[in-house]
Amino acid sequence: MSVSAVAAAPTVRAPLPVLGRDVAVPLVTGGEVTYAALDYAASAPALQRVWDDVAAYAPYYGSVHRGAGYLSQLSTDLFENARRTVAEFLDCRSGDQVVFTRSTTDSLNLLAAALPEGCEVFVFETEHHASLLPWRGVRVTYLDAPGSPAQAVATLERALADRDPYGPALVCVTGASNVTGELWPVRELAAAAHAHGARIVLDAAQLAPHRAVSVRDLDVDWVAFSGHKLYAPFGSGVLAGRADWLRVAEPYLAGGGASRKVARRADGGVDVEWHDGVARHEAGSPNVIGAHAVASACTALAEAGFDALAAREDALVSAVREGLADVAEVRFLSLFGDDAPRVGVLSFVVDGWNSSHFSAALSAEYGIGVRDGLFCAHPLVRRLVGSEAGGQGECGAPDAGSLNAIRVSFGAGTPDEH
Ligand code: PLP
Repeated sequence: MSVSAVAAAPTVRAPLPVLGRDVAVPLVTGGEVTYAALDYAASAPALQRVWDDVAAYAPYYGSVHRGAGYLSQLSTDLFENARRTVAEFLDCRSGDQVVFTRSTTDSLNLLAAALPEGCEVFVFETEHHASLLPWRGVRVTYLDAPGSPAQAVATLERALADRDPYGPALVCVTGASNVTGELWPVRELAAAAHAHGARIVLDAAQLAPHRAVSVRDLDVDWVAFSGHKLYAPFGSGVLAGRADWLRVAEPYLAGGGASRKVARRADGGVDVEWHDGVARHEAGSPNVIGAHAVASACTALAEAGFDALAAREDALVSAVREGLADVAEVRFLSLFGDDAPRVGVLSFVVDGWNSSHFSAALSAEYGIGVRDGLFCAHPLVRRLVGSEAGGQGECGAPDAGSLNAIRVSFGAGTPDEH
């Protein structure tokens, strides 16, 4: 097949303006073309509105929390309002905490560091490494890849039934796969976890940019997401949810802001009293602009409406599928079946093509930016692609010659046409 089959992209109107839509890229064949970002699952271009909101705040920049000056108070209000906006966006329960972090990876590592003594963790092997790997120094049960949402629930039920019912336990699950885009049965998994006395954290890195996430409705204990996948700039993330484990855990970072009182002891040492609110895990000067940007993106998405965004992405996914339907060499990757509901993310292999070469050709010849490799979900991609998959590349390009996957992903700013 030719890469031009993939380059025949669908034309559906983009509802939200993003920056970088008009970037011209040179082609190896001569001339240039407007860049087509089909890699939203990695990082979404920030919304124009987000940049405007950040620029509007820039002149009023001040230190937060401990500054007495007017601009410090303004910045503190902005930061704390961002927390409230995110809590609203996630439909948090009263008493839930919103901790600002650097990313989903950071959020899940924070939670991992806050697990109570003896906590057992349950995680599907299909998860992104950010969900798969942070659970160090605790007992972890890795669950086999399910073949359907119902099988996922049954697998979890079985695993939880075998655990010590009196000890603490945590289930970590994705809301939407970064490889297949498939939606996971979060509400049902949460119900199963709670029925067995376990807690659940939702990795919403791929879900939150595409679907409304209600902590209350899904009944998850925590949710984590990244600003840079939610149309905000890099460097901001969120961990939101129950306060109890976080309130008593050792601070994730030790330092100023997390400590309420520090005093020298008579024996020469130092005594520390830590805060018990969100400040406990936000030591150091926070990323106020990042929090403001995330809040701005949350507001923009809520106003645009997830039904409209999802309908548009469904159309884009269908168009790519239909465009490639007659290409025998293309095989789409899925756990739950090709027709399973998904966000605007889909991966495929092209028989006879090295995925790195294929995506390089899309870029060089058509100005289309996709991703290839194992997508930081090695066990899942290996399972779906077959035994020959698995170069040494971490999240990016695999070894030359190995057969990995190509991922196409859409978002609110995907251009009308390429
Ligand atoms: N979880 C999922 C499902 C992801 O797709 C990603 C990133 O691709 C992450 C977690 C990690 O996000 P970040 O790199 O922003 O920490």
